[in-house]
Amino acid sequence: MSLSIRLLGTSASRPTIERNVSSLAIQREGETFMFDCGEGTQRQMMRYGVSFALEDIFFTHMHADHVLGVIGLIRTMALQGREERLRLWGPRGSARVLRRAEGLGFERSTFPIEVLEIDPGQRVERKDFAIVGFAVDHRGSASLGYALVESERKGRFNPDRARELGIPEGPLWGQIHRGNPVMLPDGRVIEPSELVGPRRPGRTVVVTGDTRPCPATIEASRDADLLIHEATFGDEEAARAMETGHSTAREAAEVAREAGVRRLLLTHFSARYSRDAVDLEREAKTVFAETVIGKDGMEIELAFES
Ligand SMILES: [Zn+2]
Ligand SMILES: [Zn+2]
Repeated sequence: MSLSIRLLGTSASRPTIERNVSSLAIQREGETFMFDCGEGTQRQMMRYGVSFALEDIFFTHMHADHVLGVIGLIRTMALQGREERLRLWGPRGSARVLRRAEGLGFERSTFPIEVLEIDPGQRVERKDFAIVGFAVDHRGSASLGYALVESERKGRFNPDRARELGIPEGPLWGQIHRGNPVMLPDGRVIEPSELVGPRRPGRTVVVTGDTRPCPATIEASRDADLLIHEATFGDEEAARAMETGHSTAREAAEVAREAGVRRLLLTHFSARYSRDAVDLEREAKTVFAETVIGKDGMEIELAFES
C-alpha cells in the first residue's frame, strides 16, 4: 500500500527561480490528491511526473499563491478531452472564488466540475482512509489544514502458529485473518485471537497550508507520520510572521515536537530563503531533529511503522 508525497511548489507568495508557488500531491495506491494549486502547477506536474488524471484538489485557502494555477490546469484538462469529473474542495466561502476560476479563460469545460465547501472537522471518507479538514489560524480568513488519515489495518497473522495448530494453508487462513472463527475438520474451533495480533495503525499525513502555529494543527497531527508545515520566515523575522499570519521554521518545529510527529517537512518559504534555507533548517532542527527542508520535486515515501 504505497503512500508518497510530491512537493510541486515550495515558495511563499510568488515564484522564484528555484521554487514555484504552493502545491503538493499525495499519491496513494495509484490515486492522486492535490493540495493547493498555485500558478504554474501544471508545468510542475509534467516536470515531476504527477498524473493529470487526479479527481480531487483540496484548497487550504483562497490566497492567490495557492489558487491561480487551477485556471490553467482546468483549461489543459479540457484540451486533453477529459470527461471525468473534477472536484474542488475548499473552506467556507471558497466556492464563489473557485466557480469563478472554473469559468475564466474558456467557455465551456468538457467535464463536470464540482465545487464543495468543507467545515472544520468534516471528513471526506474513502474506502480505507479519510481526508479531514481542520481550522488553522491565518489572517482571520477561513483557512483549513487537511489530515489524510488511514484506517487501522488488520493485525499480523502468525503462519507458524497456524501450522502448529494443524490448520491447512488456504482459505481458512484468510477467514481467520479477517477476524472470523473457523471450525476445523476435527471439530476444533479456532478463534482469530489465537493467530492474529492486535490491529495496527494506518498512516497519517498532515498539510497545514498557511498558518500561525496553532493547537488545531497539534491535535490533527498527534503521532502523525508526516507533518507538512509552512515555514515562511526565520527567527529574524518572527515579528513579521506574526503580523502576516505565518510561522517561522522554529515555530513549525515546536508544533511538530508538541504533536510527537515522526517527521516534519517544511515548505512555503519567503523568497529571501529561496536559494539558501540553511538558517531555517538550523533553527528548526534545534527544536526538532527530524526536520526536512522541502524542495520543488522532492518526493517522500511513507512506510508503515509496524
Ligand atoms: Zn501562501
Ligand atoms: Zn495565505
